Amino acid sequence: MSKLVVIGGGIGGLGAAGLFARKGYDVTLVEKNANLGGRANIFESDGFKFDMGPSWYLAPDIFEHFFRLMGERVEDHLDLVKLSPSYRIFFRHDPDRLDIHSDIERDAAAFDAIEPGSGEKLRAYLKQSEYQYGVATEHFMFKNYDRIWDFLNKRVATEGQKLSVFSKMHNFVSRFFKTKKLQQVMEYTMVFLGTSPYEAPALYNLMSHMDFNQGVFYPQGGFYELIKALTNIAEKNGATLLTSSPVKRIIVENGNARGVELASGEVIEADLVISNADMEHTESRLLDNGHRTFTERYWRKRVMAPSAFIMYLGVSEKMPALIHHNLLFSEDWRRNFSEIYDDPRLPDEPSLYVCAPSVTDPSVAPKGKENLFVLVPIASGLEINEDEKERYADRVLALMEEEMGLTGLRQKIEYKRIYTVENFAADYNAYRGSALGLAHTLMQTAIFRPKNFSKKVKGLYYVGAGTNPGIGTQICLISAELAYKRVHGITSPGPLSQL
Ligand SMILES: Cc1cc2nc3c(=O)[nH]c(=O)nc-3n(C[C@H](O)[C@H](O)[C@H](O)COP(=O)(O)OP(=O)(O)OC[C@H]3O[C@@H](n4cnc5c(N)ncnc54)[C@H](O)[C@@H]3O)c2cc1C
Repeated sequence: MSKLVVIGGGIGGLGAAGLFARKGYDVTLVEKNANLGGRANIFESDGFKFDMGPSWYLAPDIFEHFFRLMGERVEDHLDLVKLSPSYRIFFRHDPDRLDIHSDIERDAAAFDAIEPGSGEKLRAYLKQSEYQYGVATEHFMFKNYDRIWDFLNKRVATEGQKLSVFSKMHNFVSRFFKTKKLQQVMEYTMVFLGTSPYEAPALYNLMSHMDFNQGVFYPQGGFYELIKALTNIAEKNGATLLTSSPVKRIIVENGNARGVELASGEVIEADLVISNADMEHTESRLLDNGHRTFTERYWRKRVMAPSAFIMYLGVSEKMPALIHHNLLFSEDWRRNFSEIYDDPRLPDEPSLYVCAPSVTDPSVAPKGKENLFVLVPIASGLEINEDEKERYADRVLALMEEEMGLTGLRQKIEYKRIYTVENFAADYNAYRGSALGLAHTLMQTAIFRPKNFSKKVKGLYYVGAGTNPGIGTQICLISAELAYKRVHGITSPGPLSQL
């Protein structure tokens, strides 16, 4: 039986552990932290249960596919609720809120009320998003790329041109919608991909298929229920999952990966190694110089996705102005993105996201209280001292009070934890403390994203957000399937029907 070591218990690592264990490999996963789940982490304090990272369960079909491959059904593991409305948008200096319902009749009417005639345009836009999502899942997302022609093939050349998928997202959206408000609504998902609408290729308009057409889901009990499910499934198939076990180095003999040495000095031998740790960490810290596919210079030149200024808040009262997912958009959108990518600093007029899972789920907060997760995207690599953190927290809270109908919020906070750049770096070995990893610019997409195997070390593979297809919980499960395909020489472009 082949022995496999997986470094890191994020979603990509857990997915890979499950797939290979099911195929009969002897799998040991080693995770540095006390919890599995990586960035999809959790902590509890003062009666509040905080999901630390992901909160939007999107593209349920991709999760279903993974569970099916593992011989399981999502509904046997997760109690998914379809949120309605899906999310609420607050605009600056504007008392009107926009609720997106993921119901085309209601959403088109809401669009028309903002920009007459835009309801029809929304229908056309979403048709294209749906088409692109279908093409992407059937032909691109589940495909390993080796040569440029694997990506820039005839289909991409003709359809890409027809659908303008390589133009910039903002230009593409502007062709459909004229008001800034609606442009922001169609563009905000670029932040999920760690990029800006001024940089992202329009092919990512497929994201709108996820939130508008498919809807937004929530696993009752919290997002960490997904991690528990992936853990149970991997263990059920025989994988051994070890926590508090940081890897110090990958053992390489005669150009082959032969296992790992833990910080404790323990050696775990293997025939194959799959790393789910951030790729920069794996390459620059766990391998010797001669075994690195990518140089320090390569990493310095990458565009990193934003980090985040996050507050986990326990609030003593319910906050009726909020629904489960809430977004506040900055008025000066372009400047806000520029403060994240071009001129790194804490944004003066930030856009922000507030998740209130206790609106849907009584188990995450004491009775009558609210659990809030507040996220401001900020530049990766930013250094912020303790005073600045507190000042910025106060500023963001004041903004929420003013613009989101949360009068007196600051007096009602009974628990607060700030989590930002240095925490991502320390907790997950995240390069430049990025929350999401490598941004999805065109030059960091598909064939241009780091491949999922080492060119220098045979038997060393990669999974997770840093390789293909990229960022996102369900997307990292696809990365596990891509590593599986790579190891077994499977070149089909679509999802596997069986292992
Ligand atoms: C704040 C936030 C909000 C998000 N929101 C959403 C959302 O709503 N929906 C969504 O789908 N996605 C969301 N994402 C993105 C999604 O969570 C990530 O893309 C995904 O979870 C990354 O998984 P991964 O497989 O890359 O592993 P990671 O989560 O990066 O895990 C890698 C693991 O490797 C471990 N490791 C590192 N070095 C070592 C070592 N030397 N030895 C052993 N272990 C090591 C780390 O501790 C970590 O556990 C969000 C992310 C963040 C941070």
